[in-house]
Amino acid sequence: MQLKLLWELQEVDLAIKNLEKRIELAPAESGVDEAEGLVQELKKEYEERVSQNKEDRKVLKTLEMKTQKLVDDRKQLNENMYNGTVTNVKELEQMHRRMDHLLVEKEKTEDEILVIMESLEEQDDHLAGLNEELGRAEKDLKEKEERLRINLAEMNNELESLKAEKEIRAEKVEKKYMDKYLMLAEKNQGQALARVNEDLCGGCRVFISSGLRGHLYNPDAMVYCENCGRLLIKLDD
Ligand SMILES: [Zn+2]
Repeated sequence: MQLKLLWELQEVDLAIKNLEKRIELAPAESGVDEAEGLVQELKKEYEERVSQNKEDRKVLKTLEMKTQKLVDDRKQLNENMYNGTVTNVKELEQMHRRMDHLLVEKEKTEDEILVIMESLEEQDDHLAGLNEELGRAEKDLKEKEERLRINLAEMNNELESLKAEKEIRAEKVEKKYMDKYLMLAEKNQGQALARVNEDLCGGCRVFISSGLRGHLYNPDAMVYCENCGRLLIKLDD
């Protein structure tokens, strides 16, 4: 009877060990870190592009003001040329040249404006795309975090009930059996007991000598595998 209790205790202990391992690995396997990394990466790129966009809009504004100034200057110059106050031919020629120069400047500035406007349009499209991608990445992260949270909660619940079960089972085991169990479990990665199946040790698969076999029919006899040292148990089913 004691051996049977130990066997059941071992099953619970192994289940606890297995579950603890799964709990430990769950965060790394959940993909939360990777999803978080992607969100951070996309946020950084988005912010960089938004600040570039702001810079370009500032430049655009400056260019627009420059154009307006050139238009105003030309208008003023035009008035001065044709209101009859300037009669000196040389001076008038100079004003003509200035007029032409202002026009060239104005056209150049307008070209620059066009280039920057096109670039801003592309940037806006790209930003919209990035924003969508970021939204998806954030949603994915949230889902993964939620899944991990639920998963951990379930596993921890299960662990609690396994530990409670272990307590109940351990209480029924006599000290001398328990001491042996703990000692052997430590030596054999938790597998203190091995089940005998068709005269083989379930722990190391080595044949059990006929001398030992006879003792296996006593349910409380402590019989050890001659090869691996595990406590042997013969179960009915
Ligand atoms: Zn063995």
